[in-house]
Amino acid sequence: MNSTQASEIEYVDVVVVGGGIAGIAIAEFLSRHSNLTIKVLEKSLKLGNLASGKLEGWFHTGALYSGQDDAQTFINCVNGVEDIINFYSPYFLKNCNINLIEKSSNFYTPTIIPNAQGWFNDQPVHIIHPKADAPEISSSRLRSDKVQVDIQLSRVLGRLEVAYGKQHNWKNNDSCVAPSYAQVENYEGVSCSLRQSTENIRNLCSKFDSSYGMMPSNYEILHTLDCSMNTSRIIKDLVASCLNQEVTFETGITIDKLLIDRYGPIRLKSLICKTKQGLIKRLKAKLFIFAVGEEFESFLADLQIRARLKRSRSAMVVAYPALVNNNFVRMSTKNRFHFNHFLQQREKGNKKFIYSMLANSGYMRDEDPEEVDIEPILELAERYFGKEKLYDRQLFSYECMKTEFISEEEQKRRYSYWIESNPQSNYLCVLPGKFSFFPTVAYQAYQRIKTLINFEESTPKIAFDSTTLKKVKEQAETLVADSYPLQFFTVR
Ligand SMILES: Cc1cc2nc3c(=O)[nH]c(=O)nc-3n(C[C@H](O)[C@H](O)[C@H](O)COP(=O)(O)OP(=O)(O)OC[C@H]3O[C@@H](n4cnc5c(N)ncnc54)[C@H](O)[C@@H]3O)c2cc1C
Repeated sequence: MNSTQASEIEYVDVVVVGGGIAGIAIAEFLSRHSNLTIKVLEKSLKLGNLASGKLEGWFHTGALYSGQDDAQTFINCVNGVEDIINFYSPYFLKNCNINLIEKSSNFYTPTIIPNAQGWFNDQPVHIIHPKADAPEISSSRLRSDKVQVDIQLSRVLGRLEVAYGKQHNWKNNDSCVAPSYAQVENYEGVSCSLRQSTENIRNLCSKFDSSYGMMPSNYEILHTLDCSMNTSRIIKDLVASCLNQEVTFETGITIDKLLIDRYGPIRLKSLICKTKQGLIKRLKAKLFIFAVGEEFESFLADLQIRARLKRSRSAMVVAYPALVNNNFVRMSTKNRFHFNHFLQQREKGNKKFIYSMLANSGYMRDEDPEEVDIEPILELAERYFGKEKLYDRQLFSYECMKTEFISEEEQKRRYSYWIESNPQSNYLCVLPGKFSFFPTVAYQAYQRIKTLINFEESTPKIAFDSTTLKKVKEQAETLVADSYPLQFFTVR
């Protein structure tokens, strides 16, 4: 700071650095359950403009992780469903369209409720599991591939049946309670009730097989709770709720310095930043929360985070208009065969865009100078949809960055989300592995915050309805970025 430059000193109870889904969800949950004064600082001119605006929009309830050796990530997803139903559905009554539905007498499971304005699209994701005669297995000379495919499938059937089939009643007194790790692990899913094979999905599979010159092979096709989510609507609703609780947002901010007290456990004294208008600000707070995604690198030393950071890039292909009317995910023991098609819908003014998001499981280390190879995605898309249909669409691709903390212990749990704090310090670091984990991240961060600062807890009496709160809704619209690919559809 130049010695002649004046700086403004501001005090709030909590400063949140980072206006992606993690920072916004924590600010929202905390503001809803306390009277603390909260300020969110965001470097970009708009909120939700980095990882939280460029993702595929897959709401993960566990299907993708159901075949893994260890059920931890699966159970974290299932617990995320419990958290959203307990903490979000009763509050965001209009738009958080997931809830428990009575499937049979007094037996309740989570369901997406159709609502065009809702956070979740009610079209389910079908997961496709190849069997031994599928192209990638039948062409393999390794007998272990067949064994692996059978083991994986039996885990998938068992875990999904316990979580979302006819095994677990999610309603317990008046609460939503997910099945436990032990329940999920101890069930054999031979008679899984989630098998559902639609003609469209069968046709796509047959087309794929015939692209290898093969007759249709056998697949296990399951109907899951996974779906596509409207991430910008979720962020906008959370921001509107924040504004309604008087959370303040500063976008276009540059953090110049963290002033740290290094005697004993490190504590942050102040944060010096420059506002969009060039004003220098010294922010003081009881608690600082860092939710800066890929930018954690520059804070690691100051905040004494000992874990390593892993950043990887991945690309997605967008096809407009949409290629087919279904969401499907082909699981595979071979990464190169993994493929997903998600149907997404966004509106801009009066215009509605319905497009396909195509992706696989390819990630590249950030250090690698090359671009992520999208050819494998295009090749698989040609096999499912045919060249003519695919290249008849407007096609785009873009890269997105995924950031993870890697520690030696508890790695699998950390893949889902990372919350780091020291009871004697006054800051918290948060990094979710998925957008879908925002309810759990917000709730768990809140539990941690209660151990770091004293405040009186409060719970709102009435549900939040952004349609009647026009002013905060409009403000949220201008604060939050349009998600990709809408940003480039509309500039074309
Ligand atoms: C290709 C790809 C596809 C994905 N698809 C899905 C999916 O389908 N479903 C799913 O659930 N998850 C998905 N994810 C994961 C998801 O995108 C991330 O887990 C999530 O968005 C991370 O949120 P965040 O708030 O931590 O990060 P971000 O959204 O990046 O937010 C961090 C914010 O902090 C701000 N910031 C950084 N430094 C500073 C600073 N110094 N001062 C102020 N502000 C700062 C940034 O500008 C940014 O806005 C995907 C990820 C990738 C890479």
